[in-house]
Amino acid sequence: MSIASAKVKEFLNSSPRMLIDGEWVSAKSGQTFDTHNPATGEVLASVPLGASEDVDLAVAAARRAFDAGGWVAMRPNTREKIIWRIAELMDEYAADLGELESLDNGKSVGIATVADVRFAAECFRYYAGWPTKLTGTTNNPSMLLADPSQEFHAYTRREPVGVCAQIVPWNFPLLMAAWKIAPALATGNTVVLKPAEQTPLSALMLGEILLEAGVPAGVVNIVTGEGETGAALSSHDDVDKVAFTGSTEVGKLIVEAARGNLKKVSLELGGKSPNIVFADADIAAAVAGTIMGFTFNSGQACESGTRVYVHADIYDEFTSALAAAVGTLKVGPGNDPESAITPLVSQEQLDRVTGYLEAGKADGARVLVGGERVGDSGYYVQATVFVDATPDMSIVREEIFGPVAVAMKFTDEDEVIASANDSDYGLAAGIWTTNLSRAHRVAARLKAGQVWVNTFHAFDAGLPFGGYRQSGWGRELGAESIELYTQIKAVNIAL
Ligand code: NAP
Ligand code: MG
Repeated sequence: MSIASAKVKEFLNSSPRMLIDGEWVSAKSGQTFDTHNPATGEVLASVPLGASEDVDLAVAAARRAFDAGGWVAMRPNTREKIIWRIAELMDEYAADLGELESLDNGKSVGIATVADVRFAAECFRYYAGWPTKLTGTTNNPSMLLADPSQEFHAYTRREPVGVCAQIVPWNFPLLMAAWKIAPALATGNTVVLKPAEQTPLSALMLGEILLEAGVPAGVVNIVTGEGETGAALSSHDDVDKVAFTGSTEVGKLIVEAARGNLKKVSLELGGKSPNIVFADADIAAAVAGTIMGFTFNSGQACESGTRVYVHADIYDEFTSALAAAVGTLKVGPGNDPESAITPLVSQEQLDRVTGYLEAGKADGARVLVGGERVGDSGYYVQATVFVDATPDMSIVREEIFGPVAVAMKFTDEDEVIASANDSDYGLAAGIWTTNLSRAHRVAARLKAGQVWVNTFHAFDAGLPFGGYRQSGWGRELGAESIELYTQIKAVNIAL
């Protein structure tokens, strides 16, 4: 395998270890697991298989760092400088981090470098601004039961939650880590991060950057491992909050696991997002945006626009333009800049996606374009659009997590809003129209945490992201994530 970055070569040769209390350590058991390059199936590195004893050590380190108070009590502008420095170092190492992410996940180097690394750096930069802006309120209580002559001075303080477990998936490994670590640090919490077993490497390189930026020992700990490692963290009695991104199925397990000590829970889960193309849309822009909506990151994005509703008046024109353009998408490895569709992350995901392709065909939907696996090594599938589907089919209802969309015809606004909202999920939605009134009217009626008009996957560090219904609890990014990582204390003083 050819690797351009000397830093990545050195990192892979160093047998990467976990970060606990500022030290790079092996699992107590000495066990490791392999992580692979999805383009070839080759082993990239062996990393520690963290078990509950390692989780205990990491949580204890995070607890000591929190209770010692140095990080919480640090002058806000000092904490800001450290978080800003993380962003600067990520930009400095962007090419290395991007290549490492592409190798471990299979995604294109271009997406890895911009959508993962640059946006992750941007999140640290955004949250770097927050420590000096955290405030409480002064309140004006009536104090019904107190002597009327007694005066009070009441105010609120915004305080960190404590030790935060953060469990992230493999589709945007570094970015999901940044979405969680940056607001946690800005608000004075300490962290134990568990990356996905398919993609543990970029989080460990981020760990090196955190130390280089001056994050004190124990403030961020990184434990690599499998689902059980995540379960040990989410059920741990000394963890105050768990933040999870991944499947709705595991999200429900996290809720169960959090019951023991009623730790705070935030969840970013699956989706099956509608993308609605009205007859008055700019068709060329809508075709391009629809393709981006379901093929970005090879469809491995929770917010992908996979249910494409097209107005009957433009249905034939739109779907033939869509089929023609999708048919030209090049399938290939992440290190080829020409590749529009890169390998899925694993054999498991390949089996899952090809399983849905077969289910769609068996249920009677028609493949408009694509529909097959590509080659017999690497986890490649064609970008696929189904038509002639009915609302009950699994390809319409379930999250596929590959570059697969279903195009469906509608005739009126009320009807398409009802169809779009007919889902257990509610993560994102797209609207393509040149009618401003329609854009606002429909945006208000869609049950989704984010609505994109004439665009898709339009993220910003300052804009909250999260789901209605079974797509999650809480919102990440923006000021909303400050809420997730702080709690309010009311202080009332009899003067
Ligand atoms: P997943 O099992 O939900 O994994 C997400 C994270 O949770 C990983 O770090 C995983 O660790 C960890 N985990 C697994 N079981 C756990 C448990 N019982 N307690 C605590 N943590 C646990 O997702 P997946 O199996 O990788 O993917 C399956 C499907 O989930 C995908 O096909 C897709 O539909 C969906 N998904 C959604 C997102 C999203 O952004 N919303 C992201 C990825 C996947 P290990 O990796 O070590 O198992
Ligand atoms: Mg891997």
